Amino acid sequence: MNETLATIVILAGIAVALYFAAARNPLRKCPRCNGAGTLPSVIPGRYRVCPRCTRRGEVKAWGGKD
Ligand SMILES: [Zn+2]
Repeated sequence: MNETLATIVILAGIAVALYFAAARNPLRKCPRCNGAGTLPSVIPGRYRVCPRCTRRGEVKAWGGKD
């Protein structure tokens, strides 16, 4: 086995591991609102919908835009 092939095998293994990790846990707690789904408004006592997760409190774990 030469070095190039070994590198490809290692990278493929990492890719598969990430794929299965994402498949098992496709959502994670929204980092913007910390899972609350809302953010404090400029008006005290009021909240606005979190623009990152649109109130769900969760976002896709691996690079999803929504
Ligand atoms: Zn959020």
